[in-house]
Amino acid sequence: MTFAIPFDNSYARLPDGFYTRLDATPVTEPSLVAFNSELAAELGIGEADHETLARIFGGNENPEGAEPLAQLYAGHQFGTFNPQLGDGRALLLGEVVDRSGIRRDIQLKGSGRTPYSRMGDGRAWLGPVLREYVVSEAMNALGVPTTRALAAVRTGENILREGPLPGAVLTRVAASHIRVGTFQIFAARRDYDALRALYDYTVARHYPDAADPHGLLDRVIAKQAALVAQWMSVGFIHGVMNTDNCTLSGETIDYGPCAFMDDYHPDRVFSSIDRMGRYAYASQADIIVWNMAQLATALVPLCEDQEAAVKRFTDQVHAMPDLIRAEWEARFAAKIGISEPRAEDKMLVAELLTLMQENQADFTNTFRALSRGAGRDEFTDRAAFDGWAKRWQERIADETEPEALMRRTNPAFIPRNHRIEAMIASAVAGDDAPFHRMNAVLARPFDDQPEAEDLARAPLPDEVVPATFC
Ligand code: AMP
Ligand code: MG
Ligand code: MG
Repeated sequence: MTFAIPFDNSYARLPDGFYTRLDATPVTEPSLVAFNSELAAELGIGEADHETLARIFGGNENPEGAEPLAQLYAGHQFGTFNPQLGDGRALLLGEVVDRSGIRRDIQLKGSGRTPYSRMGDGRAWLGPVLREYVVSEAMNALGVPTTRALAAVRTGENILREGPLPGAVLTRVAASHIRVGTFQIFAARRDYDALRALYDYTVARHYPDAADPHGLLDRVIAKQAALVAQWMSVGFIHGVMNTDNCTLSGETIDYGPCAFMDDYHPDRVFSSIDRMGRYAYASQADIIVWNMAQLATALVPLCEDQEAAVKRFTDQVHAMPDLIRAEWEARFAAKIGISEPRAEDKMLVAELLTLMQENQADFTNTFRALSRGAGRDEFTDRAAFDGWAKRWQERIADETEPEALMRRTNPAFIPRNHRIEAMIASAVAGDDAPFHRMNAVLARPFDDQPEAEDLARAPLPDEVVPATFC
C-alpha cells in the first residue's frame, strides 16, 4: 500500500484572516522516533517506510492534499489578555474524516517559525515532544478526552534552551484546534463577520444541535465540566489552563508542563512558571469556570439583545460549579466502589482525601490498593485509616461489585513524572527503549502488569521530580 493521507480540509476554506498559509521549515536529518500505527489506521492513513514517515512528519515533504497553515488565536495567559497569539511553532496540515466519521486535525508541532512566533524559534525539543506523546496517549487509554500523538521525529538539529538540546517534531491529532482564544481574537478585534463564521463552523463541526450561542456555551460547559472532573479523578494537573489551551471540543490540549501528582495535595503545582499556583490541582475546577466566562464574553456580540444575552450567559456560567461538583462526586464515588452516589458520600471521599493529604499517601496507589482491599500501608496514621475504612466497608456492603468498579476506575499505571524525566534523559542519550516501554505499559493502565511494577511504584523522596519546564 502506498502512503497517502486522505485529506478533506475545511479550516482552509474559512476566510484568509483565520490563518497564514505556509510550509514547514525543512530539518537537517529527520529520523523517526515513533509512529502510532493504530491511530494511523483509525485515520485511514496508509503505510510507509520509516524514511518516508520521517520526511513527512518532520516537515521536509508535504503529503499530497495537505494545505499547511498556522492558525490565528488570542488568549488569556495567566489571567492577562494577549490580543494576538496563534500557532508560533505549529502547522495544521489538514483534516481527515476518520473511520467513525469524525473530522480530525493533523498538526505538526515544532515545525519552524510562523508569522505568530514572536520571539520564539518555532521549534520544540525532544523532551516536551516525548512527554506530550506519552502523556496524551496515556490519557486516551485512561478514557480522558484528549488530542492524540501520531508521530515523533528527531530533526537532527540542536536547538537552544537552557543549553543545546536535540530538536523534534510532534504530529498531533485533534477533534479540532478551535480554542476559547480563537473566539476571543475576533471578538476583541470587533470582527463580527469572522466571529460569526467561526461560530457557524464550530457549531457545524462539533455541536450541530446547538440552536444559538447559549446552546453552544451549554454544550462546551458540559464537556469541560466533565473533562476537569476526569482530570482530577486521575490526579492530572494540566499546568497551563490559559484560554488558548482550552478547546471548544472538550479535549485536553497542550501538554507543556503538565504532570500527574504522586502524593495527594490539593495545592500541588508542577509548572515552573506557575509561581502563584493559579493552575494548581484543585484550582482547575475554578479556572475552567473562569475560562468559560471568557468564552461567554466572546459570544455576546453574536446575540441580538445583548443585555438579555449577558444575563443568560451569566446564569449559564454560574451553574457550572454545580455541574463540576456532580461530575466530581460521581467519579470519586466510583473510585471507592460506589455506583450510585448519595449526598453523604462526598464526605466519605473528602475524609479519605484529607487523610491522604495528612499522610502524604500516593494518590494513584492508594485508590488502586483500595480496590484490592488494601491501602492501609499508604498511611502512617493506621488508626485513622482503619476508622475511615470501617465506615467505608459499611457503606459499600450493599454494592454488588465494588472491586470491579474500582479496578476500572483506579489505574495501576499513570505516567509518573520522575519516570518521564528518566525516559527523556535516556532518549536524549540516544536510547528510546524506555519511551517505547512506557507507551506499551500505559496503553493498558487498568491491567495489572507485574513485569512493569517499577513503573507503578511511587518515587522515593530523592526520586521526586517536583517541577516541570516546557
Ligand atoms: P503555550 O503556552 O505552549 O500554549 O504557548 C503560547 C504561545 O507561544 C503559542 O502561541 C505558541 O505557539 C507560542 N510558542 C511556544 N513556544 C514557541 C516557540 N518555541 N516558538 C514560537 N512560538 C512558540
Ligand atoms: Mg498552547
Ligand atoms: Mg505549549
